[in-house]
Amino acid sequence: MKLARIPLHWLILTGMAAGMLFGVVAVNLGWHEFTKDWISPWGTIFINLLKLIAIPLIIVSLINGISGLNDVSRLSRIGLKTVGLYLLTTVIAVSTGLVVVNITNPGTYLSAEKSAEFRENYTGNAVQNLSQPEAGPLQFVIDIVPDNLFKAMTSNASMLQVIFFSLLFGVAVILIPPQKTLIVRNLFESLNEIVMQMIHLIMKMAPLGVFALMAGLTTQLAGTNPADTLQIFGTLGIYALTVVIGLFVVIFGIYPVFIRIFARLPVKKFFKGIAPAQLLAFSTSSSAATLPVTMECCEENLGLRKEVTGFVLPLGATVNMDGTSLYQAVAAVFLAQIYGMDLTFGQQLTIILTATLASIGSAAVPGAGMIMLVIVLNSVGVPTEGIALIFAVDRPLDMLRTVVNVTGDTVVASIINRTESIP
Ligand code: ASP
Repeated sequence: MKLARIPLHWLILTGMAAGMLFGVVAVNLGWHEFTKDWISPWGTIFINLLKLIAIPLIIVSLINGISGLNDVSRLSRIGLKTVGLYLLTTVIAVSTGLVVVNITNPGTYLSAEKSAEFRENYTGNAVQNLSQPEAGPLQFVIDIVPDNLFKAMTSNASMLQVIFFSLLFGVAVILIPPQKTLIVRNLFESLNEIVMQMIHLIMKMAPLGVFALMAGLTTQLAGTNPADTLQIFGTLGIYALTVVIGLFVVIFGIYPVFIRIFARLPVKKFFKGIAPAQLLAFSTSSSAATLPVTMECCEENLGLRKEVTGFVLPLGATVNMDGTSLYQAVAAVFLAQIYGMDLTFGQQLTIILTATLASIGSAAVPGAGMIMLVIVLNSVGVPTEGIALIFAVDRPLDMLRTVVNVTGDTVVASIINRTESIP
């Protein structure tokens, strides 16, 4: 069979499995340096390519998507509905996380002495770089509005700012009579085609890129000294399991309901269609890097309209992070338990609010959710130093929560696609 005919997700899956296998062999044969010097760079190159295309993709697809909506009232209806659904799914995800963590109580598995020992060990390190200067409650709104477009475009962490500009630009386009904006509309339409084609080319490298990423990750994880984490391994394991259970509940318990009832899509077809995006989310830990593939899957495999995906998905990649918000809620309760704090119902409600906001503010890149966790912890008075404890297991959880983040975006896109007719 020609390689080109094998579906992409199978190639990616094979790349992942081969990468892990290679990693295990490399660890046993002591090929750490070789893997670092000759294999991992291909993973970095692949991620760089995906990140490279992210900003042009957001600008072009959002402007193109909005100008395709043709009138402002339609835009505001779809916009409100999209944001409403994003908020709803996020709140459901955080609440799911809270329910699960209140059942498993992972932080209570550490004995009192170990807990005290941990508090001593994990005070005031690592997190210093993570915590941000004192910010007012509206700082996250200020951060969305760029003071300089070009500065915003130079950082993948400022995607929300680029989105803001693109939304404003798109709205301006549809407020002006079509004959006056024809050139710009046509320009963005062809730019859109070109960017899509670039993504197509980049994706040809996906199996190799994913192979390299997994090989690098496996050797790296095996290379770290497990002695530090061994004593708290059980507790961390239960914490990780709690996050995983929560994510599973969302992806296999809650999303299918939305898919069946609101998007009216066969659940199997849905999951099969977005599998390449999910696999890529898993291996890159970045919704932004996955965005091009998410769009391709939704358009080609699920048949969603370009106007919908062009608007809903870029927005979702940065603001809708169901997996991240769930993880933040579980992590906050876990760390509170480790520090011997009993969170009241009111504090848990605060977690729902702050985890929702923090996940909106998290950049769609690896580890961002953990950085924004600082905000959630601060809101309920849990010492932020505790984040050092969950460092060890963050990467695998990041991989999984990114899958949920991406899936959540596609769920909402499918619902908008069915419920909104855009001529
Ligand atoms: N890696 C996640 C994403 O890109 C964000 C996070 O939770 O760290 O969706």
